[in-house]
Amino acid sequence: MVKIGVLALQGAVHEHAKMLESEGTSEAILVKKEEELYDLDGLVLPGGESTTMRRLIDRYGFRDPLRQFAKDGKPIFGTCAGLILLAKHIDGQQEGHLDLMDMTVKRNAFGRQKESFEAELDAKGIARDLAAVFIRAPLITEVGDSVDVLAYHQGEIVAAQQGSLLTCSFHPELTDDHRFHHYFVDMVKNSKKAIV
Ligand code: GLN
Repeated sequence: MVKIGVLALQGAVHEHAKMLESEGTSEAILVKKEEELYDLDGLVLPGGESTTMRRLIDRYGFRDPLRQFAKDGKPIFGTCAGLILLAKHIDGQQEGHLDLMDMTVKRNAFGRQKESFEAELDAKGIARDLAAVFIRAPLITEVGDSVDVLAYHQGEIVAAQQGSLLTCSFHPELTDDHRFHHYFVDMVKNSKKAIV
């Protein structure tokens, strides 16, 4: 069994927890305090509103512990607003939030008329027909050399991985398609073996 936290300050927390639990090999822990990070093997940063989440991260003293968690090599999966938190660069902003993944992101990149929509994606190493729900979704506009692009939607990057950091601009937790979470749980299992 691996223990995977879901940062529970704001956003689509319970849907992620349910998906992680349904894997049968991972226990989901809702993380509200810094100490709750210590015995986790991996962490999900859910979708929601990235500026609100950042405010709460600062208020509850999470920024350094989250950066340390990543530096310890423990996997983090950021979805939608979670993707924005992970990015080193955010279009139109001076600084990133957690400043971890070598990529530039653009918030609310699909414009007004496409506030939310569903698509099927070819996600490298995960699934050829992955169900994806986009809600006021960001896009990845640039990636560094060490970032592997996992999926595109209409020519734009919507999923990527950099070592133990996994991210997507959509919400796999709002579908019945478990394959993205399954991929992350496997990453966590492998990293646990490597760290122990
Ligand atoms: N638009 C939101 C933001 O900028 C992200 C949307 C989402 O997480 N579904 O934070």
